[in-house]
Amino acid sequence: MRDEFPQAVKEVLAKRVAFRCSNPNCRKLTIGPRTDVTKDINIGVAAHITAASPEGPRYSPSMSPQERKSVDNGIWLCQNCAKLVDSDETRYTIELLRKWKALSEEATLLSVESNEDKKQDEDISVIDSPGSIITKNQIGDNILISPTVDLRPQLHFFESETQIQQDQVTGLYRISCHVS
Ligand SMILES: [Zn+2]
Repeated sequence: MRDEFPQAVKEVLAKRVAFRCSNPNCRKLTIGPRTDVTKDINIGVAAHITAASPEGPRYSPSMSPQERKSVDNGIWLCQNCAKLVDSDETRYTIELLRKWKALSEEATLLSVESNEDKKQDEDISVIDSPGSIITKNQIGDNILISPTVDLRPQLHFFESETQIQQDQVTGLYRISCHVS
């Protein structure tokens, strides 16, 4: 007997990450238009962090069925990444999946709070103008940047109270700065 997620749980998991895969190195969009104009195509999966049944990966016998099918035990992934994380539970641990989920939700919230296209332009301008990130991104302390943007050569442009750390697990750069 599998403890499947109710439809409402699947929906909220998908929406909290704007229907993007929660693997920070993937972030694939999982929803789009179907030929039938009244329908959509969904290639995302509400995956279980700890398995829905005893034979599954990361199964936790101490959890109740109710906990197992709750929002807390789910993560939105594309079909590829859902297969990936269930194929190697030693590498894709409960802790790693929880971290992916938290990072993905944080990145989604940052996108909602800012104008993504505009922010990308500003991120590029940071490279040429010392300290500009601090005045231009006044919304927050933490800015997540994909591993494809390597900021290490530009480190000397940032003011001393700004810290840049690369997340060991995800490869994302986390910039912490204080706006005065
Ligand atoms: Zn994916």
